[in-house]
Amino acid sequence: MIVGERKTFDQIWESVKDLKSVLILGCGTCVSVCQAGGEKEVGLLASELRMKSQLSGKNIKIGEATIERQCDREFYDSIKDKVKEYDSILSMACGAGVQFTAEVLEPILVIPALNTRFIGVTEQEGTWAERCRACGNCVLADYGGICPMTICAKSLLNGPCGGSKNGKCEAGQEKDCAWVLIYNRLKKQNRLQNLSTLTQTKDYSKQTHPGRSVNEIYLKPEMEEKSAK
Ligand code: SF4
Ligand code: SF4
Repeated sequence: MIVGERKTFDQIWESVKDLKSVLILGCGTCVSVCQAGGEKEVGLLASELRMKSQLSGKNIKIGEATIERQCDREFYDSIKDKVKEYDSILSMACGAGVQFTAEVLEPILVIPALNTRFIGVTEQEGTWAERCRACGNCVLADYGGICPMTICAKSLLNGPCGGSKNGKCEAGQEKDCAWVLIYNRLKKQNRLQNLSTLTQTKDYSKQTHPGRSVNEIYLKPEMEEKSAK
């Protein structure tokens, strides 16, 4: 999932304090799971903003809505009428959701309420950790399912840097050394021979931006339609 963190209340207030009306828009997928921008967080932020608006004599009209995914066009139909009642949207989605909201509902002003952090997992309740940098050329099969691009502080692909001590990373003793983790995993899998054959160089050509991925199956009906004309 994409992990985000809410901006501070002061930052959010600064970006909405001069507006007449704001619809706070939550996203029901990734940012709900990491408790940053789902329906519950929309309700909490709305209460905080209403209180601040009242106390500061601003009287901003604050509305609430949450759609299943802000990165998917089909979910916007349910809020199209509601959006007309507001002059701005405070999006609690990741950066992709904020941009897509601005694109789908153009020209309404869309403001981000979160900082997008990374693609990660729920390590334990309340703790999320990065696991993937979306490099576009996954090499996890060689490394026992542990990504050296992400977990190693230096993204080393062919073994440790030499600074690892007691299984910890030299860049921070609270972090495990990725290469100790990889070694231990491959040992458990009886695949330590991988370490004597790894000579990886990374193909960064797939990391051009903005990335785009097309599944041709979805284009087929369109292509058939064109050739029938
Ligand atoms: S190698 Fe690492 S960064 Fe690249 S896709 Fe796989 S998990 Fe993600
Ligand atoms: S100590 Fe391990 S995880 Fe840290 S930078 Fe060196 S190889 Fe990477």
